[in-house]
Parts: sequence; C-alpha cells; structure tokens
Amino acid sequence: MTHNGTVLRTVYDFPVAAHICSDGTVRYTRLVRRAGCEPQGVCPACNITFQYRKPKPSRVRHPSSQGASHF
Ligand SMILES: [Zn+2]
Repeated sequence: MTHNGTVLRTVYDFPVAAHICSDGTVRYTRLVRRAGCEPQGVCPACNITFQYRKPKPSRVRHPSSQGASHF
C-alpha cells in the first residue's frame, strides 16, 4: 500500500478535505493554496497528500461508491 513516495489523492472539497484515515476514523485535512498551484494539504497521521481539483462541470451526479459521507 505504501508507494515509496508521497501518496497523492485528488479531492474535490475545499478548504477542508475529509477522508477515512489509516486508523479508520474520519479526519479532516485543511488545504492550503500555494502560489501557482492547486491547494494541497497533508494528513499528519497517514501522510497522504490531498490535492484539490476543481470539479468537472458535469451536471450528472453519480452516487459515491467510496462510502464517505458528503457534507
Ligand atoms: Zn489520514
């Protein structure tokens, strides 16, 4: 599961991204916008880097298959 480097996960939530952490609890990582880059945040517990990405302008919403609850 570890990948020798930084684990990057794309998220569509801003400024806080929720994820299920390595211990099974939901954690919220604050994303910080950098100059010239998309906002990023790193979870200190599992070291996953979350990178914000603007959602595609699709009107179709498909149900999430990851089991994470939406805000
Ligand atoms: Zn985490």
